Amino acid sequence: MPGSNDKIKRMLSDGMVSGRTSHAYAFIGGSRDSRLELGRWFAQSLFCSSFKGGPCGECLPCRKFLHGNQEDYMVISKPDDRESILKEQILSLIDRLMIKPFERYVVLIEDAQLMNAAAQNKLLKTLEEPVSDAVMILLSDRAEGLLPTVLSRCVRFYLDDDQSEASEADTAGRFVYSILTKAPYYKKRDALSDIIADKDSSRQRAEAFLDSTEELLLKVIKERRFSGRAVSDATWETLIPAAEEVRNCRKNIRQLHSVAYSLKQLCLRV
Ligand SMILES: [Zn+2]
Repeated sequence: MPGSNDKIKRMLSDGMVSGRTSHAYAFIGGSRDSRLELGRWFAQSLFCSSFKGGPCGECLPCRKFLHGNQEDYMVISKPDDRESILKEQILSLIDRLMIKPFERYVVLIEDAQLMNAAAQNKLLKTLEEPVSDAVMILLSDRAEGLLPTVLSRCVRFYLDDDQSEASEADTAGRFVYSILTKAPYYKKRDALSDIIADKDSSRQRAEAFLDSTEELLLKVIKERRFSGRAVSDATWETLIPAAEEVRNCRKNIRQLHSVAYSLKQLCLRV
């Protein structure tokens, strides 16, 4: 989809020019080629010594990048003979990040949705306590392919028109937050109004939202933490029945009950 990444490139470029670079980015949705093109463009841009809205392609860092011998650039991808990106790959990445870079490390994780949970949890540690001289770029076909905790630590950009599907993980984050803070019914319902009002793909989006919500709840139940904050005993005890309600809601939606009614019932019960 030529040109479709131009807007994202402009935003990234503005950030670089004004010195606002984050330590982690997620490029989500679109075609795989489009994600790779954007990820490589951004990686090269981060190295370029005469960046002007894009990498110059002529400076020494650019030439090194284009010739595949940029020492500070690392690419993580799925091994050909495996189904997923392995924990061991992330562990050796972390080891490498401990060594001082020549300038600054840039790590591109292709098909980040193929990281298994163990690998994502290892990666999460470095996202929580970033190595100062590294920028991580995660490419994922969908937001749901990444743990909400991983996603929440990345600056996110959605390619093409995947915006609606991709935002379900964000909605799940807001919804879980509203449970933890005991927000009133109408606030929870408002968080879901966009999904409820979607005439074409409400059911599909509701399922994506419920999957993300359940995953996030189970994670908070296990770790007793949300966005770095401890969860109190009293709140924590409400989360197990909440996860059950989420599963019930998904079951109802799969049995073709009204999406709006099922989600509103969920808001009332959690
Ligand atoms: Zn350059």
